Amino acid sequence: MTAHRPHDAPVIGLDLGGTKIAAALVAPDGTVLARHSLPTPATEGAEAVLDALAVAARAVRSSDATAVGVAAAGVIDPVTGTVTSATDTLRGWAGTALATGLAARTGLPVACDNDVRAAATELAGPAGQRASVLLYAAVGTGVGGAVAVDGRVLHGAAGVAGHLGHLPSPEAEGLPCTCGASGHLEAIAAGPGITAHYTRMSGAPADRLETVAARAAQAEPHATAAVVLGARAAGRALGGLANALGADRVVLAGGVPRIGALYLDALHAAFAAELMPPLRSLRPVSPRGGPDTAVLGAAALTSTLPLHHPDRTTGARR
Ligand SMILES: [Zn+2]
Repeated sequence: MTAHRPHDAPVIGLDLGGTKIAAALVAPDGTVLARHSLPTPATEGAEAVLDALAVAARAVRSSDATAVGVAAAGVIDPVTGTVTSATDTLRGWAGTALATGLAARTGLPVACDNDVRAAATELAGPAGQRASVLLYAAVGTGVGGAVAVDGRVLHGAAGVAGHLGHLPSPEAEGLPCTCGASGHLEAIAAGPGITAHYTRMSGAPADRLETVAARAAQAEPHATAAVVLGARAAGRALGGLANALGADRVVLAGGVPRIGALYLDALHAAFAAELMPPLRSLRPVSPRGGPDTAVLGAAALTSTLPLHHPDRTTGARR
């Protein structure tokens, strides 16, 4: 399971999301040779999801393809190839033997990781122009992330490396976090955290972040304050991490940064204010790479993570 694929043959990258599975056949130089996508059978159980992944792989597969890389939602352990935990987005997904299940269905060795870390693998950059320390933050319904050193994404104990949302944050003092602790960044900086803070301050209900963002755009003071506070908390945490790690690239992804200039300006100002002098030119950037980033990141997992081989003694279903 530790053997690595040959570097002169194409591999298949699969990106499993809550609504869509995207597949690509990727040449060794990163060229996408074929693409396919299909809906995720999210409510039909893990076996149906594995079957759909196999269908997607078959749709792009060439005879010389050597391995499959899967970037999946949920907490994924690349060493065991299983889904450690997951939300209800995919029914029955937690506990799934992702790598061996897909290896059996495709007859190819499979490497897997969660989608945030797979994207970071891709965004670490090609050899030669690679960040030495990449800090990748994804701010959305949670605050996730990844840290890559010389192109290798850190996994850490129990696979928790990169869980930026669970840094202590002064702005989140006393607020309960999804992990069971309190005062963590995610509680004030994730979309639901910003929305809840707006409601606490204004007494006005808001169903989602976009509602708060729209009110902030109309200069509603509580909405503006909630957006700015979430942005400032994230910016300070990222700036502090950049100092601690000596980051030379900081990528800011996820849906929250897309709500507008108010958010981004506040985040950038807070980030810059934390930086030590040698890092002062550093600024968070949007993820480059476009729509193929996820499948390219998935394909890249086959050269950096353990491969789980099909059980040849029982014969693989193809
Ligand atoms: Zn937490």
